[in-house]
Amino acid sequence: MTIGEKITEWYLENGRDLPWRNSQNAYKVWISEVILQQTRIAQGIDYFYRFIERFPDIQSLANAEIDEVLKYWEGLGYYSRARNLYAAAQELMTKYEGKFPTHHSEIIKLKGIGPYTARAIGSFAFGNQTGVIDGNVLRVMSRVLNDFSPIDDAKTRNKFQEIIDVWVEKTDSAPFNHGIMDIGSTICTPTKPACLICPLETDCIGRKEGSMHLLPIKGKKMLRPTRYFHFYFIYNSEKELAILRRPEKGLWGGLYEIPNEEVEMAVWEGKKVGFEGKYLGGFKHVFTHFDMELQFFDLGNEAGKVAENLLINAFFIPVEKIQAYAFSKAVLKIFDKVL
Ligand code: SF4
Repeated sequence: MTIGEKITEWYLENGRDLPWRNSQNAYKVWISEVILQQTRIAQGIDYFYRFIERFPDIQSLANAEIDEVLKYWEGLGYYSRARNLYAAAQELMTKYEGKFPTHHSEIIKLKGIGPYTARAIGSFAFGNQTGVIDGNVLRVMSRVLNDFSPIDDAKTRNKFQEIIDVWVEKTDSAPFNHGIMDIGSTICTPTKPACLICPLETDCIGRKEGSMHLLPIKGKKMLRPTRYFHFYFIYNSEKELAILRRPEKGLWGGLYEIPNEEVEMAVWEGKKVGFEGKYLGGFKHVFTHFDMELQFFDLGNEAGKVAENLLINAFFIPVEKIQAYAFSKAVLKIFDKVL
């Protein structure tokens, strides 16, 4: 039996039953894959159900308002994913009559769809004979092959892609790909690979050589800069809260927030603002490429004393209406602590 056949057979008996796996609907596969980028499965399932209930198909997503789409994404982070979903849904309506193209070379042209998601849609929805490589699969492959090349190197990924495309031959691509992902997340885990119950035990060179605990190898660690921010609760005389909308592009694009500004580390360390204000708390928020240290202050009814640029584009809403707007995870966390 080939490696591909063993993985497929194992999956058909042991695979996890996840809601999007029972469907070959390309739209649902797409939404689930995008939600699961950077999100744990347990958390992603709830979002998937809510999103699909409100936007059951490409057309309903394309016809929605972006604010509502962002609201359904609220708390998931990486909001460019939601904006790209929305843009791609419109592209699918105008260029492809509301249907997904089936070929990899067309799927990958859609906004926000990279090689991983294009292959996942191709395999899970259309049965294209291609391997789908995520972080779990990289770990399994580097151990099975006993390959010490850094997995964050594009050359390694290309090499693994060629190998997995051979593994997937002569078997069903969807159960194969689900299977190797499940082996990675449930058996060949980072610190405790359960080789005795692994269907690849007899093929795995890392297991034979006893080197599986050393793999996979990662290249240079990224330097993570830290940025410092102050967030302000500013009220008007009716005790309404100032909020504003971020620009469409960039961090938290299109989401709402309370007035804030980036500050120097020395200012941040002083836990003070340059005008009357009460320190309410702070925490660190982690992004892929940097850490954000943020502090929040109550400026009360002091809008007039605040540098005017903080309130450009801001407007005031009753505090009980904040649910009607989509905020980033960090701002929601501030609300949780303060309101
Ligand atoms: S035999 Fe062990 S190291 Fe190899 S793939 Fe299976 S769990 Fe991972």
